[in-house]
Amino acid sequence: MAVISERFDDLGRDGAPARLGIMGGTFDPIHIGHLACAEQAREAFGLDGVLFVPAGNPVFKKDRAVTPAGMRLAMCRLAVASNPAFDVSAVEVERGGDTYTVDTLRQLRAHYPGNVELFFITGADAVYHILQWRESAAIADLARLIAVTRPGYALSEERRALIAERGSFSIDHLEVTALAISSSHLRERVAAGRSIRYLTMQSVFDYVREHGLYRSAGPQAAEGGA
Ligand code: ATP
Ligand code: MG
Repeated sequence: MAVISERFDDLGRDGAPARLGIMGGTFDPIHIGHLACAEQAREAFGLDGVLFVPAGNPVFKKDRAVTPAGMRLAMCRLAVASNPAFDVSAVEVERGGDTYTVDTLRQLRAHYPGNVELFFITGADAVYHILQWRESAAIADLARLIAVTRPGYALSEERRALIAERGSFSIDHLEVTALAISSSHLRERVAAGRSIRYLTMQSVFDYVREHGLYRSAGPQAAEGGA
């Protein structure tokens, strides 16, 4: 049984320097915005792979019913199946309890040898609140942070300066193709009976349809923004 993920458990075992990207999120559902960000971060930072880590019980999303973790995990697996540089890890889902990035990074750091450098990839909207993350200073010691641009969420110079000053870490900012889509947007479209085809991988589109996900507006549509 894989500890972290099928494809990347042995990364760095040969002693050669390696770089692993980590993308955390709720992925409810995963969409092309997530995939393109991961791909462009992989390219820009010479990452050997990117691991998608769906949150078990996302702390910032308690205001709506999140799709069961097993299904979010399954959709991520379908989405990355065709790309050997991507994989999915169930560590947060299996850990149970509330999901904190610092716990995940500690678990990954403990698993990989020192020659594997970790890069945590996050969108500008998530980085904006980074100072509120649990043990944000510890996160900086565990991984390098890549903040990718996201339409609608500009990080002002003032905010960047505040983050750099208050949190003892540096962030690499990476401009990626602007894709103004979110999982909320996909859920809202399905609830309204509209198509999400091409906004996610075909396999995920099929899964959503087969399992009847997101059809009822219910508590899922209550969130509003991204
Ligand atoms: P929701 O609308 O449910 O919040 P989301 O699309 O924001 O969904 P998340 O699972 O919350 O997806 O996000 C996971 C990570 O991906 C976050 O770091 C987020 O900033 C980033 N991200 C998601 N969509 C984009 C996008 N279109 N461009 C850049 N970053 C993105
Ligand atoms: Mg989000």
